[in-house]
Amino acid sequence: MTDVIHHYINGRIVEGKSGRQGDIYNPAIGEVVRHVALANVDEVRQAVVAARDAFPAWAATPPIRRARVMFRLKQLLEENLDSLAALLTEEHGKIVADSKGSISRGIEVVEFACGIPHLLKGEYSEEVGTNVDLYSMRQPLGVCAGITPFNFPAMIPLWMSPMAIACGNTFVLKPSEKDPSFSLRLAELYTEAGLPDGVFNVIQGEKEAVNAILTDPDIAAVSFVGATKTAEYIYHTGCAHNKRVQALGGAKNHMVIMPDADMAQATDALMGAAYGSAGERCMAISVAVAVGDKVADDLIERLMPRVQALKIGPGTDPEAEMGPLVTKEHFDKVTGYIDQGIKEGAKLALDGRGLKLQGYENGYFMGGSIFDRVTPDMSIYTDEIFGPVLSVVRAPSYESAVDMVNAHEYGNGTAIFTRDGDSARHFASNIKVGMVGVNVPIPVPVAYHSFGGWKRSLFGDHHMHGMEGVRFYTKLKAITARWPTGIRAGADFVMPQLG
Ligand code: NAD
Repeated sequence: MTDVIHHYINGRIVEGKSGRQGDIYNPAIGEVVRHVALANVDEVRQAVVAARDAFPAWAATPPIRRARVMFRLKQLLEENLDSLAALLTEEHGKIVADSKGSISRGIEVVEFACGIPHLLKGEYSEEVGTNVDLYSMRQPLGVCAGITPFNFPAMIPLWMSPMAIACGNTFVLKPSEKDPSFSLRLAELYTEAGLPDGVFNVIQGEKEAVNAILTDPDIAAVSFVGATKTAEYIYHTGCAHNKRVQALGGAKNHMVIMPDADMAQATDALMGAAYGSAGERCMAISVAVAVGDKVADDLIERLMPRVQALKIGPGTDPEAEMGPLVTKEHFDKVTGYIDQGIKEGAKLALDGRGLKLQGYENGYFMGGSIFDRVTPDMSIYTDEIFGPVLSVVRAPSYESAVDMVNAHEYGNGTAIFTRDGDSARHFASNIKVGMVGVNVPIPVPVAYHSFGGWKRSLFGDHHMHGMEGVRFYTKLKAITARWPTGIRAGADFVMPQLG
């Protein structure tokens, strides 16, 4: 790895020339480990032109050959798993096992994209009118762009680019400037896998690069994942520039715990879902809705010793269960929410602030926190904290728990823990959330289904990967064909009635 993470355009690393660079930190030690070039408009344009010029030949490449590139990419990602995971852990902070897990979830999308010849098959209707047949096909859009967040530097670029590219598009990725190194390795692996130059490009940068993408006339579609405020801006600006946009935003995921739940199972589930990756997951559970005081008291009693005993350390420590937060700025934001929660009257049952790790005194480490008696008017309930802070809300009944989840502005993921089939079925049908778990705390759909939230967790019409991914990255075309047979239809001045 170089000291500066540059762009990747037309099959090679291109040095950033804007004169602006950002710092990349190792959050476990709180030090800058390398820098990242921040692109200007001209550099973004260079990447878009490379992708535009590569598009006709790639779109004309038979899907089976595109799939073969994906087969090779899958193998290369697997062969390089250890070094890629180490890179993620160094820049993001999450523990190595979690880094590997997230890359593996990304590889699953590559595996799904290997089936692209089958996925692109259209439909055919014979004899829709006398001697008239109709068939449909899905064609690529052109240059697609992906703008991705810091929390999954590998998985989210892999939600997008394999699907877009397998569908016959070319791609420009703008990863998070906080942990961008994986994106360059991914570009090199795509090239090693046999992807033609210009089909996958990476542009490093922040707001200026994003705005250049959103306004570039040669970009047909934009996929975004990040905070809701950014997602809404991306969606409206991209649409105003006539692009197809899917913009996935923030979340506040509730886990409803019913009185009949297996409490040991629910506690295990909450530990991983609330504190895994230091709570920096869009599918993290940040609100536990206990139905009844008895459930709440039992839950907190079970959680307290477990959270106190969490093994916190650098992600490279194989014993560690939770690493640091991504940046000092984010650390301060999470700390600020804990202060705010106390001011607003929630009961801080466990305080994760003030943790110091020997040898890592400058790292952005924080212990797990638990708030009890949180109410829906508090900012620790309404806002996404994105840290290891769990809010316990006491709901008097199942109905009030459902109303609470449905009234929240976010609708990414949710879960119910119960042994009762009726409640589980009612919950799955009536909850206004995109991804629902029944005794499953983080219900991230597998690659051949689709990932996406409702309400202010997603702007646009399509979820990510699965068939939604194929639909997002292709245009549908329907062809109605009649072949000369000697039968003259004659001129018809009314709307054709083929049947
Ligand atoms: P972010 O919105 O700050 O950044 C995401 C991307 O947008 C980055 O590439 C960044 O450079 C760019 N960006 C940031 N501010 C911008 C601006 N003002 N104008 C233009 N571009 C801008 O998000 P983040 O902090 O990197 O990621 C965390 C957020 O992402 C959380 O809210 C989390 O819930 C969300 N997220 C959502 C999902 C999901 O599937 N819904 C998945 C992962 C993360």
